[in-house]
Amino acid sequence: MSRIVYVNGSYLPEEDAKVSVFDRGFLFADGVYEVSTVLEGRLIDNEAHLVRLKRSLNELQMESPASPSEIVEIQNELIKRNGLNEGGLYLQITRGAADRDFAFPKNTTPTLVMFTQEKNLLNSPAAEKGISVISVEDIRWGRRDIKTVGLLAPVLAKQAAVVAGVDDAWLYEDGYVTEGSSNNAYIITKAGTIVTRNLGNEILHGITRRAVLELANEADMEVEERAFTLDEAADAAEAFVTSATTFVTPVISLDGKAIGDGKPGPLAKRLRQLYIEQALES
Ligand code: PMP
Repeated sequence: MSRIVYVNGSYLPEEDAKVSVFDRGFLFADGVYEVSTVLEGRLIDNEAHLVRLKRSLNELQMESPASPSEIVEIQNELIKRNGLNEGGLYLQITRGAADRDFAFPKNTTPTLVMFTQEKNLLNSPAAEKGISVISVEDIRWGRRDIKTVGLLAPVLAKQAAVVAGVDDAWLYEDGYVTEGSSNNAYIITKAGTIVTRNLGNEILHGITRRAVLELANEADMEVEERAFTLDEAADAAEAFVTSATTFVTPVISLDGKAIGDGKPGPLAKRLRQLYIEQALES
């Protein structure tokens, strides 16, 4: 069944939803995006996604073609028109279409595209079983805190994982894990401390990361925000990743070696449960 997609003011069947070949998102990856989760037909933590969107736009001196309240209105209209109960809502803003030239064009209207993706999020086999990851060198650019559509490095990392017969890749730089290909990465030490990379330009400031660290603090779990090595990860009691559409997902092996007992760990499972409870209550 065809979806209804939003493009620059119009709600269109997906086969009619088009942007220009001169769009700078297409030519230069000159654009930013957000993915918000939808559960029971409602957006989860969407305000935080829109704050990060604004920050990404500001960092790239890009204008938004719609105010936050207009964006929310479009998001909810798309959810309604597509009857979306569970899944994700993808939103992309590019600098717009202009004759190909590296520097910013003048007087170009930004492009705004949104679409829905149906997906089972609550009953996820990956969360049930845990996922296996390989380590891949992080070859991304220096501003990973900006959520741009320039995603070729994570595409290659994820493809390397597929070829290796595993679920995902953890990216590393100078021996330290930065994050997952499309999620934030965590280990839980044998002493029970949750460790995840501190915020900076090296990682995306995950919306789920913030919510999960808050829940961990409330549950009196020990949290350290610092870089950790691949060796520490291999020696950890548990590991997991977080993202808007995967919530908390346990990681059970790294580079072919089991983490802990090779099963989803109790703290990761507990955090997933706490996160989902809070999301459903919000
Ligand atoms: N890091 C990267 C590189 C990502 O692509 C994502 C997913 N957007 C995340 C972390 C997780 O961010 P969030 O919790 O906001 O989905």
